[in-house]
Amino acid sequence: GFNIRNVFFGYGDGSGTPVVSDITFGLPAGKVTALIGPSGSGKSTIADMLLGLLEPTAGKMLVDGIEITAANRRRWRDQVAYVPQDVFLLHDTIGANLRLAAPQATDDDLWVALRSAHAGDFVERLEHRLETVVGDRGVRLSGGERQRIALARALLRKPSLLILDEATSALDWQNQSLIAKSIDGLRGSMTILTIAHRPSMIAFADWVVAMDNGRVVEVGQYQRLKEKPESRLSRML
Ligand code: ATP
Ligand code: MG
Repeated sequence: GFNIRNVFFGYGDGSGTPVVSDITFGLPAGKVTALIGPSGSGKSTIADMLLGLLEPTAGKMLVDGIEITAANRRRWRDQVAYVPQDVFLLHDTIGANLRLAAPQATDDDLWVALRSAHAGDFVERLEHRLETVVGDRGVRLSGGERQRIALARALLRKPSLLILDEATSALDWQNQSLIAKSIDGLRGSMTILTIAHRPSMIAFADWVVAMDNGRVVEVGQYQRLKEKPESRLSRML
């Protein structure tokens, strides 16, 4: 599993007021953890540290008990995949977009990832399938289709940790539930962190970490937080 221990982070030279303070929580291996909290509470800052893009100002990040350091950060980055709210797709074919994550992948590999991301059906309906060009002057994908392509692309990296940062926030409920189904199907095969500022759409989480104002205010099993909430945030579940 993954553990964050007494982590602080401040932007700039780190000497100002930290945006996250004394963060401690674990991501149980193979489980789905939801990180919730209002806008500005520090969720994406934590995601960026887990992605190896930001270094904690103080505290430790551990993978299976081993601290992430400058020496192993690169290898760590290769194990984490990320789906953001605003997905970047090249004006190129669907296949080329997917192969950004896995240049050696066969077409079969691409289809397996597309199906896990519930993107198989709509790609199959496109005339040139993997050769379909997306973006300007090509096929215009809907927001939900773009997110599902991005999820497939993330899965092709075969991550041990998958992070979705507000990946479904801009989507309608139908697309939200397709992504939710995908995540449900991935449970057990990788560790998943899903970030949302609204407590909806996390009903499939095993574990919840609630943040407010740069601090963790509550951690626990989803069912426990729902039944016996101890913070303002979990009362909204
Ligand atoms: P949201 O739900 O809106 O995405 P969040 O919980 O992800 O919010 P963060 O993006 O982690 O919050 O931001 C936490 C705090 O850090 C905010 O006050 C934000 O203004 C500040 N912040 C974020 N990025 C930077 C940056 N590059 N430089 C300085 N301050 C930043
Ligand atoms: Mg954010």
